[in-house]
Amino acid sequence: MKRSIKTYLKAAAKDYSSRSVNPPVVRASTILFKTMQELREHQKAIAKGKEVEYWDYGRQGTQTTVQLQKLLKGLEEAYQVFLTPTGFAAVALSIMSICRPEDEILISDGVYRPTQKLTDGLLKEFNVKAVWYNPNSFQDLKNKVSKKTKLIYVENPGSNTFEMNDLGKIISLAKSKNIFTAIDNTWATAYFFKPIKLGFDISITSATKYYSGHSDVMAGTVAVNKKVYKKVWWYNHVSGYRLSPDDAYLILRGLRTLDIRMDKHQENTKKVINFLKNNKKIFKILYPYKPSSKEFKLFKKYYSGASGLLSIIIKSKNKNSVYRFVNSLKLFGIGYSWGGFESLAVYTDPVELGTRRYFKLEKNEHLVRLHIGLEDPKDLINDLKSSLKFIK
Ligand SMILES: *Cc1c(COP(=O)(O)O)cnc(C)c1O
Repeated sequence: MKRSIKTYLKAAAKDYSSRSVNPPVVRASTILFKTMQELREHQKAIAKGKEVEYWDYGRQGTQTTVQLQKLLKGLEEAYQVFLTPTGFAAVALSIMSICRPEDEILISDGVYRPTQKLTDGLLKEFNVKAVWYNPNSFQDLKNKVSKKTKLIYVENPGSNTFEMNDLGKIISLAKSKNIFTAIDNTWATAYFFKPIKLGFDISITSATKYYSGHSDVMAGTVAVNKKVYKKVWWYNHVSGYRLSPDDAYLILRGLRTLDIRMDKHQENTKKVINFLKNNKKIFKILYPYKPSSKEFKLFKKYYSGASGLLSIIIKSKNKNSVYRFVNSLKLFGIGYSWGGFESLAVYTDPVELGTRRYFKLEKNEHLVRLHIGLEDPKDLINDLKSSLKFIK
C-alpha cells in the first residue's frame, strides 16, 4: 500500500513535458490549437469520454490538474476523480449531482456541520428532504429507507464524535434497493480506506486536510465509480467548480508524503492515547482504540489504519478550567482545520453539538477535539500533562 502512492507518482511523472522532477504549474484560461480541425478532434475525443492530457478551456483544468486527477484515480481506485476548490464544494458537488426535487437523502447524524446546513437548509428549498439516522444503529437507517430515498450519505467516523457505521451493511442495503451511496472519507483518506473499492458510488475528501498536509491550501476531491460518473460530470460541468493549478500543485506535493505522514500521525496518536486513557481527568476518548469496543470492531473491519483526529470528554463543573487547559497548551494551536503537520486543540461548542439528534453531552461534560501532529509525541504528552492540571 505504501509503495502504491509512489508508483502512481512515477507513472504520472513519465508524462511530464519538462525535465524537472515535478510537473509544471500550467495556468491558463485560453488553450490554443494549431487548426480548427485539431480543436474539433479534441472536443470529439472529450465528448466520447477519452482520456486527454489537457482540456480546451481553463475552467476544465490544465496539465497540472490532470496530473493530480491521474494520481488520485490510482490512489482511490476510482473510475474518475473530480477536483473542487474546497472540501465543502466536494460535498456540495456530490449531493447536488444526485438529488432532485421530491427525493429524500438519508444522512448520518454527525456529518460535518456545513453539510447539515446544506441538506437541512438549502436543499429543503428545492424540496429535497433530509432524513437523519442514528449512526450507531444500522436498524434505524434500515427503518428509514423509503421509496423516495435517492442517496445514503455517510460521514465516517462522525465529525467530532467519531461514531462508526457498518459500511458494508449500508452498501448491501443500498444496492438491494437501488439507492446511491456517498461517503465523506476525510478522516481516514484513501490511504487507510478505499470507499469505491468497498462499493460506494462516491468518495469525498477534503484535500485541505491530510492530502495537503501543510495547512496552506484548500481543495476537495470527489472520486466516483462508473455508475455515477456522468451525473457528477454534468453538475461539475455546469456549476463552474475549478481547482486552481497552483493549489493542485500544492496538493500533488503534499501527496508525495501522505503515506509517511499518515503512518506517523497514527503512531503518535496511539502514544498520546496511551497516556490519555490513564489520566483521571479524561472521562472518555472518542477514537477507535479500545479493542473490546463496537467502534473498534467496525473500524478494523474496513480500515487499515487511523488518523490523528480524536476527541476527549472531560467532566468538570468549571468550564473555565477546561478553557484554561486548552489555552495553556504550548504545542497545540487553537483552531479548526486539521490534517496538517501541527497539533491542534479546540473546545467544541455544545450549541453546535446541540444540532445533533442522537449525540448528547451530559451536564458538566465538555468535548475537546485534538489533532495529533508530527511533533515528538513525548513533547506532546508532556504538554498535555502539564495543562491537564488546570482542570478542576
Ligand atoms: C474540513 C472538512 C470538510 C470541508 O473541507 P474544506 O476544505 O475545509 O472546505 C468536509 N468534510 C469534513 C469531514 C471535514 O473535516
